[in-house]
Amino acid sequence: MSSTFAPFARPLYIMVKSVGSVCNLACDYCYYLEKSNLYKDTSNHILSDELLEKFIKEYIESQTMPEVLFTWHGGETLMRPLSFYQKAMELQKKYAGGRRIDNCIQTNGTLLNDAWCEFFKQNNWLVGISIDGPQEFHDEYRKNKQGLPSFVKVMRGINLLKKHGVEWNALAVVNDFNADYPLDFYNFFKEIGCKYIQFTPIVERILNHNDGRHLATVQANESAKLADFSVSPKQWGNFICTIFDEWIKEDVGSVFIQLFDATLANWIGEQPGVCTMAKTCGHAGVMEFNGDVYSCDHYVFPEYKLGNIHSKSLVEMMYSERQQKFGQDKFTKLPSQCKSCDYLFACNGECPKNRFARTKDGEPGLNYLCQGYYQFFDHVAPYMDFMKKELLNKRAPSNVMDAVRNGEISKF
Ligand code: SF4
Ligand code: SF4
Repeated sequence: MSSTFAPFARPLYIMVKSVGSVCNLACDYCYYLEKSNLYKDTSNHILSDELLEKFIKEYIESQTMPEVLFTWHGGETLMRPLSFYQKAMELQKKYAGGRRIDNCIQTNGTLLNDAWCEFFKQNNWLVGISIDGPQEFHDEYRKNKQGLPSFVKVMRGINLLKKHGVEWNALAVVNDFNADYPLDFYNFFKEIGCKYIQFTPIVERILNHNDGRHLATVQANESAKLADFSVSPKQWGNFICTIFDEWIKEDVGSVFIQLFDATLANWIGEQPGVCTMAKTCGHAGVMEFNGDVYSCDHYVFPEYKLGNIHSKSLVEMMYSERQQKFGQDKFTKLPSQCKSCDYLFACNGECPKNRFARTKDGEPGLNYLCQGYYQFFDHVAPYMDFMKKELLNKRAPSNVMDAVRNGEISKF
């Protein structure tokens, strides 16, 4: 079959909000629930079949690579019936045009049943589960609208995924409460057989308005207050360093922690697998249930709306001057403390969303978590150097575990 793919690579990812911000839970730190305020005048926050078809066709046609990744995100994605995703798969097949299509879906896991799991298994979907560690940590903030905890239901969902052999990973939010227990946290994930973990430090700033609390947009609002559940920079640094020390002793190559993988990628000059640690960003937008496209999942604010799929093409929006600038600003707007930082190559100032602190000289735009990240990069540097050397010599980076045991790495 002859290829009609464009001869240049132009990454373009758009996460789809199949039910807008609608969710069966009401976790304290969900950044997406308030997005329903953007569409107050629309009663039904559901992506229609017509829009689904338009999006799938255009999304596939916009790709320059032979693989296409669909990411389904919420709200709670499983609040759409299974038939919605079955229809999506039919449409993907209809418009694939020789491309390989992959799907991943993020869910809180509480609505999983055998039918969902069979579907995911049969169609090779990757399922991301939001779970914040052991029960006492998870239930602190992840509750339903009646204030009832969700851990038991999430674990039931995970056990179903395991029973059906579905590929899954965990997205764990690190907050003010659980950050002081890194090993309880890490061991829990190992015990439940989770091999891929993404730790996300929660940092949110809140503005009080007459009509309720709203998330603050980026640096713009100095009056915004840090939400109480946010992790502190010191907690974050200690959390990731402690887990790293455990991981480097026995789990390299068997447990994959996104931040560690991304750090190693940056250490060897490869593209990290997560936008926050990359030099620039802006390749991953979000499409809401009505076709509105935004710069990023964390920038679903009116001022970051790129347009609507009914009036502009996805390529036009994602490759607009505005979106290009959004992505480049991640690098160009770094404060001088970052520009002269020894670990800029690994950190890249992390996500611009978190850059509301001031540098030692009072310059704005420093990442709130800077202290924690600096501590982490400084701590892991000798191990990263070792793993880089192994990779450059075409040996397994997991050899670092022997080096640690034999005392070959001085800092340990
Ligand atoms: S703003 Fe942050 S989350 Fe959004 S694409 Fe950039 S780095 Fe990623
Ligand atoms: S560790 Fe701090 S100073 Fe260094 S690049 Fe990251 S945020 Fe900037």
